[in-house]
Amino acid sequence: MIVEVVNTGTELLLGEILNTNFQYLSRQLNKLGYDVLYQTTVGDNETRLRSVLEIALERADIVITTGGLGPTRGDITKEVIADMLGLEMYLDLDTWDRINSFFVKKGLCMSSNNDKQAMVPLGAEILINEVGTAPGLVLEHNGKLIVLLPGPPSELNYVCQQRFLPLLMQRYAQQGIIYSRILKMRGIGESSVAAQLDDIITSQSNPTIAIYARRGEIIVRITAKASDVEEAKSLISGTEAQIYERLSKFIYGVDDASLAEYLGQELLKSGSTIAFAESCTGGLASSMITDIPGSSEYLLGSVVTYSNMAKQKLVNVSAENLEKYGAVSEQVACEMASGVRDLFGTTYGVGITGIAGPGGATEEKPVGLVYMAVADGNDVHCVKHLFGGTRTENKLRSALTAISMVID
Ligand code: ATP
Ligand code: MG
Repeated sequence: MIVEVVNTGTELLLGEILNTNFQYLSRQLNKLGYDVLYQTTVGDNETRLRSVLEIALERADIVITTGGLGPTRGDITKEVIADMLGLEMYLDLDTWDRINSFFVKKGLCMSSNNDKQAMVPLGAEILINEVGTAPGLVLEHNGKLIVLLPGPPSELNYVCQQRFLPLLMQRYAQQGIIYSRILKMRGIGESSVAAQLDDIITSQSNPTIAIYARRGEIIVRITAKASDVEEAKSLISGTEAQIYERLSKFIYGVDDASLAEYLGQELLKSGSTIAFAESCTGGLASSMITDIPGSSEYLLGSVVTYSNMAKQKLVNVSAENLEKYGAVSEQVACEMASGVRDLFGTTYGVGITGIAGPGGATEEKPVGLVYMAVADGNDVHCVKHLFGGTRTENKLRSALTAISMVID
């Protein structure tokens, strides 16, 4: 089944917003074994949208559009598709009622231009949207499926998860599916994982195993072909158990798990607390920790000690060490870790200092050089990394590595 995703919205083409809808959709569809082979982004322009859709319908079995289902004149996706397929539109009263009660619940009045969102092309299946106004729609045309999904990410996610993906799985069940499970590892290298799983990898073809590194962690993807998800899961579970037997101490989570979430679980288990003194990461590590609901149980506070002055005043870094070794040094990272631990009275203190780039480097301290230290009251453990990526990558990898260090 070849899928093309058509993301609509001039703001996407202008680079004003990132196309997270595509990332989300593509991940979900790939996980279920659909081949997402094409992706097109097109502005809110009738002629161009029409030509993009014509091309998509030539080369894909399933064409999924996102966006342009809103109440304004600029929202044209449904109208263009109905016109292309020669379909009349009617006012769907159930949809109108649902949109109306959506507004009533918020204490608002449905305006007349929202009527447009209750217009449905004849023959379309309606994907009810409980978290917004525009429903998703599914149309069949010459054996191909055309799916219209709303643009706001929360609505797209809801309509996909609750309506569209279940419908897709039911519809194409007889063709079999491909299903994947991801094991996430840390503290071990890609080649070492490959060596330890070599015999399992070579001895079987269903499920298959793929290993790759991503942002400092190792991903092991187990993929099974099966007639349905249940069968795929049972095929995968045997292989997963074998991998756990060998590498369980490196596996921190599955599928969408994050290192920050894992650290949170570990801290909760031991009743420990944590604080960060961040320099080059500018608060990113703390931000990742606070992405996890309930993190206030263990993150007591953090400081962004970006200047030497902040390092001295807030986390007690000594002027001598700053002078002698510089702000990006093992000595300063260790002092930051101990200092922030003292400041907040936590079980662990973490210090991160480095050169994110692109400026600020010297021959002896290149871009991407980062020191990260963890203090636990007995000991201060520091590691040095040379990431050498872009500023954003260096910040991200530093934050992830620091989080990973606390787990160790
Ligand atoms: P609305 O009723 O809000 O107009 P819509 O279905 O017409 O919904 P759009 O107008 O295309 O959708 O997009 C609404 C908002 O959703 C955009 O302003 C943008 O913030 C977000 N959005 C749209 N498309 C994407 C995308 N591909 N990735 C991420 N965000 C998106
Ligand atoms: Mg819109």
